[in-house]
Amino acid sequence: MATLHKYDAVVIGAGGAGLWASLELARDGVSCAVLTKLYPTRSHTGTAQGGIAAALGNMEPDHPDWHTYDTVKGGDYLVDQDAAEILCHEAILTVVELEHMGLPFDRTPEGKIEQRRFGGHSKPDPDNPGKNIPVMRACKSSDRTGHMILQTLYQQNVKHNTQFFNEFQVLDLIIQANECRGCIAIEIATGEIHIFHAKAVIIATGGFGKIFKVTSNAHSLTGDLVAIAYRRGIPLEDMEFFQFHPTGVYEKGILISEAARGEGGILFNSKNERFMERHAPSMKELAPRDMISRYIFEEIRAGHGVGPGKDAVWLDVRPETINKYKSAPGGKQVTAEYLEHALPDILEFVRLYEGLEPMKEMFLIHPTAHYAMGGIPTDLNGRVLRDETNAVIKGLYAAGECACVSVHGANRLGTNSLLDILVFGRRSGLDAARYAKQTDFGDISPTSDELAISQINTLLNATGKESVADIRKKMQSTMDNQVGVFRTGDDMKQAIGVINDLRAAYKNVSLMDKGKKFNTDLLEALELGYLLDLAYVTAASALNRTESRGGHAREDYPNRDDVNWLKHTLAFQSDSGVEFRYKPVTITKYQPQERKY
Ligand SMILES: Cc1cc2nc3c(=O)[nH]c(=O)nc-3n(C[C@H](O)[C@H](O)[C@H](O)COP(=O)(O)OP(=O)(O)OC[C@H]3O[C@@H](n4cnc5c(N)ncnc54)[C@H](O)[C@@H]3O)c2cc1C
Repeated sequence: MATLHKYDAVVIGAGGAGLWASLELARDGVSCAVLTKLYPTRSHTGTAQGGIAAALGNMEPDHPDWHTYDTVKGGDYLVDQDAAEILCHEAILTVVELEHMGLPFDRTPEGKIEQRRFGGHSKPDPDNPGKNIPVMRACKSSDRTGHMILQTLYQQNVKHNTQFFNEFQVLDLIIQANECRGCIAIEIATGEIHIFHAKAVIIATGGFGKIFKVTSNAHSLTGDLVAIAYRRGIPLEDMEFFQFHPTGVYEKGILISEAARGEGGILFNSKNERFMERHAPSMKELAPRDMISRYIFEEIRAGHGVGPGKDAVWLDVRPETINKYKSAPGGKQVTAEYLEHALPDILEFVRLYEGLEPMKEMFLIHPTAHYAMGGIPTDLNGRVLRDETNAVIKGLYAAGECACVSVHGANRLGTNSLLDILVFGRRSGLDAARYAKQTDFGDISPTSDELAISQINTLLNATGKESVADIRKKMQSTMDNQVGVFRTGDDMKQAIGVINDLRAAYKNVSLMDKGKKFNTDLLEALELGYLLDLAYVTAASALNRTESRGGHAREDYPNRDDVNWLKHTLAFQSDSGVEFRYKPVTITKYQPQERKY
């Protein structure tokens, strides 16, 4: 028998998005439970190093409108501009509120919040009218910004008595009569099923980078609720846009934050050429990520790669190089001591994973799958949209990386995700609180946990010959090789064929562990099911979009095509696979232009 719980609101996920949403609910006196498969402070938000963007103008002149422009241009004009305006204008109060909650931001000598440069963030160049140059906009706590955000928000939730259900993995949503009325979860320690009956549910479960092999994403980023929403008839928006971060540790994919380039780090090819000077003369290493990842691949293809497979480039953060090229902010001279203070974790990663001394040697980097621009479509208050007319599902919200309010469009700028999760986490929490107060509990069907239970029993009783690990490995390498930085129609058709075969094979997996307690074998099998669905939708959406834009670069359609493709994709699950519908991009002030940096 499942255990029944009743709360006004349930938040699924305890990263930055979930914790700010729950904080608003708790502050508003709405009874709220947070369900999380990880202990809250282990959420992926805690790994974010570089910073959170806000045009505070503490170091040099800046303006939220400049930030909005950068966000829209960085997203290759697929950004919904009303959402980007909210993001960039509410950034300021978000950072100030974090500071008031006690987040230990780095400080300038005058005691203001210190800021650093990040890719794609710019200001007008006073010496060159019409040109933009990098601006210091990222607020940070050394290179542990996400860790500090997570700790701060968790403490605030504890203070406001938010009820946490840690290590509860959600398996299904209860959606009846176009209303979300709760969710079903498994308690990992016991295997017991719990039904959470609620008026409002906020999905805040983060990304799904584990569809790829080489990724910066944690093992837990398997897109559970994105896939569950899709299976429950909710469309997924712009899934073809997945960001490859240019600087992952060679072969391992572990992230070397863009902060390394913000502080002056330089990319070199095998000819010792600073190749970004050629590709993006104004922004150089601080051009947006989609572009730098493509240029790295082009260098490798042109035979200018380095490393054992000639399939990497160098990142150089040695003080003498930064000083020689005057690549630090304002051309200032840096010392090893300064860099140790600005980038402690990043330098430690290089020592640990590359086994060399980054103050003395360059190290190998290669693009790594990093961030899902697409996800569950929402309006500006986080309400989940069920079709291209923007009709909502009552009581259902999504915020953070799992959602697509479309502030990132076709490519996200660095430091804009921490901002997105907090701004739209807060807005979702506020709207859900308002909604829960004016709504009564709807009835839930006595069989609402049936599907979750039958999925578990099917897996526990299965006797097939296929292995979860083998299917996952094949899916990940297929996605890396055929749905990566550069894409072609033929490759993607093949990838979809392989993924379909793997989905068939998945029906014949069996598990070693048949028990109830801490059955991670079972949980991984469920997660693989979600990943297969999301890999399929990603590849199918990418094949469908016959243009190149932002993070989606097609060799067979190399140009952006605003006439046919300045629109969002909505992918619906259908009997034959996937059905595509479209909705327009919201344009307020910024007309689409060619992107030059
Ligand atoms: C290495 C790295 C560095 C980054 N650096 C930066 C940066 O410097 N600046 C920036 O802006 N962005 C950065 N990003 C991106 C940014 O950190 C993430 O996009 C963001 O933190 C996601 O937050 P979230 O709240 O949406 O989800 P997450 O923080 O990923 O949290 C997801 C939560 O969902 C829960 N969950 C998932 N599935 C289930 C389920 N089935 N049942 C119950 N709970 C579930 C998990 O337990 C977890 O609590 C970085 C990302 C990575 C991977």
